[in-house]
Amino acid sequence: MEALTNRVKVMERKPMTFVEKIYLWNIMKGMMITLKHFFKKKATIKYPEQKRPFSPVWRGLQILNRDEEGRERCTACGLCAVACPAEAITMEAAEREPGEENLYREEKYAAKYEINMLRCIFCGLCEEACPKDAIYLSETFTPSNYTRESFIYNKSDLLIPDPKTDPQGFAKARGNRAKKEEV
Ligand code: SF4
Ligand code: SF4
Repeated sequence: MEALTNRVKVMERKPMTFVEKIYLWNIMKGMMITLKHFFKKKATIKYPEQKRPFSPVWRGLQILNRDEEGRERCTACGLCAVACPAEAITMEAAEREPGEENLYREEKYAAKYEINMLRCIFCGLCEEACPKDAIYLSETFTPSNYTRESFIYNKSDLLIPDPKTDPQGFAKARGNRAKKEEV
């Protein structure tokens, strides 16, 4: 067949030696590489049984905070929604009624609080804007799901456990917060 250019390099095909023909040396070379990696520190882990530690500044799923008495800290001021560049936060404010002091810390609270996780870019601006330490980004991933609606998280999805009913869950959630504050 005629070459298309004059830059063709004709390769000389040398006959294989006996050692090359039985591939023993190449097999040994391959095994050496395998053996070398066998004793190296593994780059992978057995997820989900094992989990990597998160960076202290990791920004994951948002959490709505409670105080030590279990009262919701959010006062529905709307600063987080204003700060959010993705317009992912919506809320409706309500006045605290007499007798609800054990539920809500401030006189005004968020009757409805929603974050659209499909919009959120996990920038952390909502956390920075909040004057009441009511929202922060935790060490949790947003779980995968099949419908768009399931990515709209409401207040019950976001609130941390009540210390009166689940002290361990509350302490764990607060522990994550404390780790971030140390950085
Ligand atoms: S992390 Fe950023 S994008 Fe997500 S809700 Fe907060 S401010 Fe909006
Ligand atoms: S989370 Fe914070 S910034 Fe957002 S409405 Fe509640 S108190 Fe205001």
